[in-house]
Amino acid sequence: MKSEESCTGKGSYDTASWWHWEKNAIRCDLCARSCLISSGKTGFCENRRYHPEKGLESLVYGKPLAWGVDPVEKKPLYHYFPGFSVLSLGTRGCTMECPYCQNHSLVYAQLSSRSFRKYAPEEVVAAGVERGLSLLAFTYNEPTVWYEFVRDCLFLWKERKGHGILVTNGQMREGPLRQLTPLLGACNVDIKSFNEKHYENLLGGSLPQTRRFIEILVEQDIHVEITWLVVPGINTEDNLFRSCIRWIASLSPFIPLHITRAFPAYHWQGELPSLELLNRLREEAREDLSYVYLGNTGIPESTSCHKCGNDIVIRSCYNALDIEVSKEGKCNFCGTPSHIVTGNPSQERT
Ligand code: SF4
Repeated sequence: MKSEESCTGKGSYDTASWWHWEKNAIRCDLCARSCLISSGKTGFCENRRYHPEKGLESLVYGKPLAWGVDPVEKKPLYHYFPGFSVLSLGTRGCTMECPYCQNHSLVYAQLSSRSFRKYAPEEVVAAGVERGLSLLAFTYNEPTVWYEFVRDCLFLWKERKGHGILVTNGQMREGPLRQLTPLLGACNVDIKSFNEKHYENLLGGSLPQTRRFIEILVEQDIHVEITWLVVPGINTEDNLFRSCIRWIASLSPFIPLHITRAFPAYHWQGELPSLELLNRLREEAREDLSYVYLGNTGIPESTSCHKCGNDIVIRSCYNALDIEVSKEGKCNFCGTPSHIVTGNPSQERT
């Protein structure tokens, strides 16, 4: 049996989708890990359990552990409705195991150690509507691990003409991703290295899966920005970074790239990446990409028109102070496309 529910928005409480039987076990088909789960056990993310009567169940459906209203720039998305706020939700769990996890206290929270209040997708949507928001993001932890809740919220959100956002490691497999793409407006995807062995051996993930994820977003015309979290000793080899930049540019030289400083966290207690290193990576990236930003430096980043060089978005920290982009997304100074989705999101349709 394989469950591939359509986007009904009705919410299949607790019943997981994207799995099939393999003899007496369940194979989860949601992410690149493809966990084989025996009765009573959970998969790697610890959010999906083989229930003897129900099949695969989601243990986190309707259970956000983190809520917030953030500037969309904080996701980071610098080219998607700059200056607007986004209702942001996350829960526990991840599909990868990065030793430098920047959100480890949330990601590795035990289900039993937190008292969860269970929410229906309708309540999430109502919370956003009450606050007058048009953007809804699944962020803070990996959205894949509560896929069914994310899907049901995004479905209802889109019915209200809202725009859905994922901040993700891109490990979701192609089938489930294609089911979500009609509900998505934008994604920020982490590329953690450009070495398949690093992904497999150090981070517990699959580089080809993340690449495929980004390719599908580009094919489907979903706004995409990419984050490269700089972790010295793990992903600072020049050749890796250059290969990654060339690959991104082959998809589009206008995909924004965020080169972000990792803080020592979890099992990684190395040195904070220097500003000199970040600036060097930025200069390299700028040889092939038009929009390259540094993150976690405390220094505001503006966006310049790639044609005339004028500042078209001036930011202070995560706030967009001045936006010189037309409703059609063109530079106000020279009329060149800015590759910024702008306007009022409540008046736009995804
Ligand atoms: S979503 Fe969770 S259970 Fe499913 S394959 Fe990925 S890590 Fe395993």
